[in-house]
Amino acid sequence: MRENGACSFNALRVTKVLWPAVVHAHIHVPVPVHVHDVQGAGADADVSQGQGQGEETAMAALVAYMRRRSEVVKDCKGEAGALTADGMKWYIPAGDAIPHMVVCEACYEEVVLATAPGFANRFTEHHTPQGVSSGKWVCDLGRQMIYMRRITWSRGRKGDWDGFVAEAKRRMAMPACEGKIKTAGQNVWFRPKGVTVDEFRFCETCYTDAFADSKWEDVFEKVVETSKTEWTMHKCAWKWNLPVTQFTFAVQTTKQPADDLRLGLAVIAGKPRCCTREGIKGGRFYNLRNAVSEFGVCEACYEGFVRAVGMASFFSDTPVTIPQAAYCVFNTFLDRWGQFIERYNEALDTGRFSAYEDAVRN
Ligand SMILES: [Zn+2]
Ligand SMILES: [Zn+2]
Ligand SMILES: [Zn+2]
Repeated sequence: MRENGACSFNALRVTKVLWPAVVHAHIHVPVPVHVHDVQGAGADADVSQGQGQGEETAMAALVAYMRRRSEVVKDCKGEAGALTADGMKWYIPAGDAIPHMVVCEACYEEVVLATAPGFANRFTEHHTPQGVSSGKWVCDLGRQMIYMRRITWSRGRKGDWDGFVAEAKRRMAMPACEGKIKTAGQNVWFRPKGVTVDEFRFCETCYTDAFADSKWEDVFEKVVETSKTEWTMHKCAWKWNLPVTQFTFAVQTTKQPADDLRLGLAVIAGKPRCCTREGIKGGRFYNLRNAVSEFGVCEACYEGFVRAVGMASFFSDTPVTIPQAAYCVFNTFLDRWGQFIERYNEALDTGRFSAYEDAVRN
């Protein structure tokens, strides 16, 4: 664990290369066998000799990397960016293949070198100092640059440099999504196949980061505007629809089939919108199995926060309709939202549902 709280083990170089090499070397050290067990062999000799060396070498490589990474290489500054005073070491695509792309040393080590030989030599150290006047530099492979990291790995592994350059340029040209209202016809939007709810759409940037170039990609299609929708105004649902992101993360982290994502998002798209100042009127709400008064989870949040994470057994099976405007307990406009969500996450992490139940009963 480093100063910034990021787990050092969770780096592609470790999880995809160095650690699997240790495991591979370990399981390939056979238990001592005697040659007479092997067909056609005559001598009774131990053939396992020398097999442990691979494991030692792999472990040494892992330890050397970890030592260097924690003692020498500075952590990526992420979205906040780095100033000259931070003394970062930067890498750039060789031959200026992707103008303006910069990669900090940590991400070069963790992500680019994980593809080795892949893209290891496609990046070179940037010798020109950052300069005082150039302001902050934001690493293009920082943890927030999900899509850039994903294509570095997927294309790098195959050595597909041209494909990577084209995709990286495309992503770098996309505007950051600020969740602001935009005209439908003047932007590119995506939504799950089969969903027709017009306001349920993700901007190209959010769609790309969350789903493009992955097994989830086929769940979505580009929105084709009609004369009716062309001038409608929309916010990116990835930014306002919390059950959507919760549901997606749950499905993605538990590696469920792609179609589960499509089905779940279609359910959420068809339910009343949760996080509004007005609450939901005439909505259907789930209570806890041991009902709590003035408590309810709306249908969209039930899908994203409850069912997707395996918490359904703590909640009622059937939702109850509440005619007047009511607030879902996961509505961010609720005063105690922060407190409740903290306890809910605690219940998820520890498996002790009482952590949450006690909080909402009081
Ligand atoms: Zn970085
Ligand atoms: Zn967006
Ligand atoms: Zn809700």
